[in-house]
Amino acid sequence: MMGRYMSMETLKFLLHDVHDVSELFQYDFFSDYDKEGVDILLDSAKDLSDKVFYPNFREMDEKPAKYENGSIVVHPAIGDMIKGYADLGLISGVFDYDNGGMRLPGMLLSSCNHIFESANNSGVGYMGLATGAANLIVTFGSEELKNRFVPKMLTGEWMGTMCLTEPQAGSSLSDVTTSATPQGDGSYQIKGQKIFISGGDHQFGENFIHLVLARIDGAPSGTKGISLFVVPKLMPGEGGSFSDNDVITAGDFQKLGQKGYCTAHLVFGENDACTGYLVGEAHQGLKYMFKMMNEARIEVGITATSTATGAYYSSLQYANERPQGRRIQRSGKKNVEADQTLIINHPDVRRMLMLQKAVVEASLSLILECSKAADLHRAADGEVAENSHLLLELLTPIVKTYPSEMGVTSINNGLQILGGYGFTSDFPLQQYYRDIRICALYEGTTGIQSLDLLGRKVPMKNGKALQLLLAEIQDTLKAASTFDDFKPYVKDLAEKLEMTQKVLGELMPFAMKGEYERFLMDASIFMEFTSTIVIGWQWLKMAVAAKQALVAGKQEYPESFYESKILTMRFFYKYEMPKTLGLMETMLNNEVLTIKEEEKNMVF
Ligand SMILES: Cc1cc2nc3c(=O)[nH]c(=O)nc-3n(C[C@H](O)[C@H](O)[C@H](O)COP(=O)(O)OP(=O)(O)OC[C@H]3O[C@@H](n4cnc5c(N)ncnc54)[C@H](O)[C@@H]3O)c2cc1C
Repeated sequence: MMGRYMSMETLKFLLHDVHDVSELFQYDFFSDYDKEGVDILLDSAKDLSDKVFYPNFREMDEKPAKYENGSIVVHPAIGDMIKGYADLGLISGVFDYDNGGMRLPGMLLSSCNHIFESANNSGVGYMGLATGAANLIVTFGSEELKNRFVPKMLTGEWMGTMCLTEPQAGSSLSDVTTSATPQGDGSYQIKGQKIFISGGDHQFGENFIHLVLARIDGAPSGTKGISLFVVPKLMPGEGGSFSDNDVITAGDFQKLGQKGYCTAHLVFGENDACTGYLVGEAHQGLKYMFKMMNEARIEVGITATSTATGAYYSSLQYANERPQGRRIQRSGKKNVEADQTLIINHPDVRRMLMLQKAVVEASLSLILECSKAADLHRAADGEVAENSHLLLELLTPIVKTYPSEMGVTSINNGLQILGGYGFTSDFPLQQYYRDIRICALYEGTTGIQSLDLLGRKVPMKNGKALQLLLAEIQDTLKAASTFDDFKPYVKDLAEKLEMTQKVLGELMPFAMKGEYERFLMDASIFMEFTSTIVIGWQWLKMAVAAKQALVAGKQEYPESFYESKILTMRFFYKYEMPKTLGLMETMLNNEVLTIKEEEKNMVF
């Protein structure tokens, strides 16, 4: 029997009641959508997910992608996933009508991806890369590139990849050495190696359109000399023919988790016969690629949230079925004559389940907050568009990092709930635990996201993005203050905002004095601190929507559904929010221990 792996009720509550997706439909750009259409799309995604994604989750781990005879063979279900996803119009969905899309709001694509990835986190990446790569070509490439490569990517016949990483250039892309030599006809000869390329080669792509970062001969060093190229695996010719383009698959990395999602080592131009086409202008490649990376960062947040969601429902089911021990009586004694109780009745197990729920539902809420900001940036004009973009810029490192880091903690608690069985391969918790671990690494590690948040996004435009976030939080505080029983949480969150000012008051002067290493020394602590507060904001926002539904008496779901949202908010404020105090103490402590000093070197 199929287990529950996500909650459609929670997803719809978040979309309609908390983040009011219908606000988007008032813009001309999204005016073809309505609530009924939203629910039909989500229900179709759930159906595909139940039939194709979920049933193959365990087997894709047990039968991983493998390298055979110069190419990669992935699980056969990947073919069905690509087809089903493309048939729902999701690969092309976000594109405009004249590019074959349906102007699908990002809020809805994120929601569908959450459904699929809660069922099976190794599938959606293949299609997401096709969408992302095609979007880059459409946005920055010439008409010729667009007409030649994009249509088949949007049907799922051709796949896309993002090729940034090289053996010596991971976090630091300024060290990319793949070369691009002009061939005299407007094209370039590409030469170099790319490693860790997700979805880089498999039997279900008729062709692969790689988006490759490379350096044109004589280009400036550093990131200013990096350009972006379209490099097809097979060069399309007349009448549907293909010729080899000298892109060799050198291997498939065998991994801790996400074993169904292949990770290729690609060699471009080993025989000096690999042709690439420049996208947009020379030396602007990293800037263009950041468009895809920012979208991919939200997508990683979705993967992490959804993986942790699948784990939550799995451990919840176990806790509801496993009898063990007896409840402690009022007298403090155990009644050994009584039947064993289910473990879900023990406070410690309930605490772990509530933590899981608190992490996954607020992470999903933050994803929809970010997706809405991206949608408003697309649909609105002027100040609304600009502010939405700035808010999204600030929240992107957080929406990537919180679900990735706290998702691990959440699944760890889920695994603990299963006791010894959690450690065995009889149950999927161990797989979720392994699968989610990549999320804190790819698309910029947690360390890199934290530098981005504190070093770039907070000071950006004189702190304007941060001011916009504070204004959003103030709106929630105002709405929450209308309910007397929420006042303690309003006070708590308001105090946390003051703490943020205090921390920045301590840290920013280091940046102003040019002491950047000192300024950024504890960027990861700042990330943990800020993201906990942001998640506290999301919980208050959810609790307000739940309370409003209860007060209005027009609930779509049972009262207990809304009451549980409020209870989980209270849980977050009791168990998670106080952690910010300790993090603040660390950041205000002026002792410098981690900066390397030549004269008193630390011995590890
Ligand atoms: C399964 C998988 C799939 C991937 N998919 C893709 C893909 O499709 N396309 C692609 O191009 N790449 C892909 N990657 C590469 C991924 O983005 C990189 O692994 C990641 O960016 C980190 O680079 P690195 O592995 O070289 O680690 P390093 O950059 O060597 O980092 C090692 C450690 O040092 C820290 N560190 C590095 N620099 C700094 C600094 N300046 N300050 C503080 N700390 C620092 C990091 O945070 C990390 O903890 C994938 C990787 C994996 C494992």
